[in-house]
Amino acid sequence: MNAEIIAIGTELLLGEIVDTNTAVIARALRSVGLDLYRTTIVGDNAERIAQAVREALGRSDAVITTGGLGPTVDDASRQGVALAVGVPTEFRPELWEQIQERFSRYGRTPTENNRQQAMIPAGALAVENPVGTAPAFIVETATSAVISLPGVPGEMAYLLESAVLPYLRRRLGLHALIKSRVIRTAGTGESWLDERVADLERLPNPTVGLSAHPGQVDVRITAKADSEAEADRMLDEVEASLRQRLGKAIFGVDADTLEGVVSGLLARRGWRLAVVEHGTGGALASALAVEGAVFAGGHVLPDRLEPVTLTSLVEHARAEFGADLALGVVAWREGDRECMTFHLSGAGLDEDADRSFGGPPGNAARWAVNMALDFVRRRLA
Ligand code: ATP
Ligand code: MG
Repeated sequence: MNAEIIAIGTELLLGEIVDTNTAVIARALRSVGLDLYRTTIVGDNAERIAQAVREALGRSDAVITTGGLGPTVDDASRQGVALAVGVPTEFRPELWEQIQERFSRYGRTPTENNRQQAMIPAGALAVENPVGTAPAFIVETATSAVISLPGVPGEMAYLLESAVLPYLRRRLGLHALIKSRVIRTAGTGESWLDERVADLERLPNPTVGLSAHPGQVDVRITAKADSEAEADRMLDEVEASLRQRLGKAIFGVDADTLEGVVSGLLARRGWRLAVVEHGTGGALASALAVEGAVFAGGHVLPDRLEPVTLTSLVEHARAEFGADLALGVVAWREGDRECMTFHLSGAGLDEDADRSFGGPPGNAARWAVNMALDFVRRRLA
């Protein structure tokens, strides 16, 4: 089963507003297991709307339009859809009553223009709009259906959830559901990961995709199945394969964070960690402070330190805060590279490391913090 979205509005084509409705509808379609193959943006012109709708109907099981249902002459969606399916528009007294009723509730009187909004393609199913004035409608054809929703994002989203998705599930017999799981990795580059999972990234279902963040790469697995249990089984299978390939690079799943995982590892041993940092804007301490008792305290250093000085300050901080472990991080930019050095000591550990990566400035602090936390995680795991 597949669907298309047509966003209607000359404002969109002029670049005056950004089409966010299409993204909202796309996510909703995914949640009911309808595949989206194409989206279109078309201006407020009945002929061109009709042409876009006609083409989409020829390719898909459902066409969803958004926008152009207002009361003014340039709101051409009712006309466009009617043209596409070869019927006239017709006046629906019950819709007109609903519109008048809504206006009177706000102490206003509808204009003659608003009467236009009670005109929908002949034979269409009307969808009452309790959160706005423009009624939506559904036109069924032998093989497909056009569902026309208003453009105002709040109204559109409300009608989508309350009326359109239940309709699509019923009409198309959709049982499928889509579940995602995010496998979180750190301390490796995106290309290292990509090399190891390239074949999985080509799977049709579940699909596997990477997204890179500073010092962290997420692997999202998305499965489409007829039941939750089946989706879980598919996700488990790919996760197992990822664990085998990526090993220690994986630090968590879904909502897990590096600081959360590190704090869990410390808590399990009853250890507390102190930090000393420079060039991170205090981001390391901030990340750990929310984790509670495992964070012993920290210092932000005003000057960049030589490694030997860092080592002694880390030792000093460990004693000062009565911590079991202390971690020092110094980050700086050199040409077009982010660089960092860190030192971890205490609890039998005494380790130094340097890292660098080429990339745009701006993410240095988060990158350095993630690299340092990952370093600690790997030593404690
Ligand atoms: P109205 O009754 O307000 O005229 P309508 O159904 O005719 O509703 P439009 O006139 O097309 O909808 O759009 C109304 C407003 O909704 C736009 O000015 C814009 O702010 C917003 N809007 C419309 N389409 C989109 C879209 N695709 N993405 C995001 N916002 C949109
Ligand atoms: Mg309008």
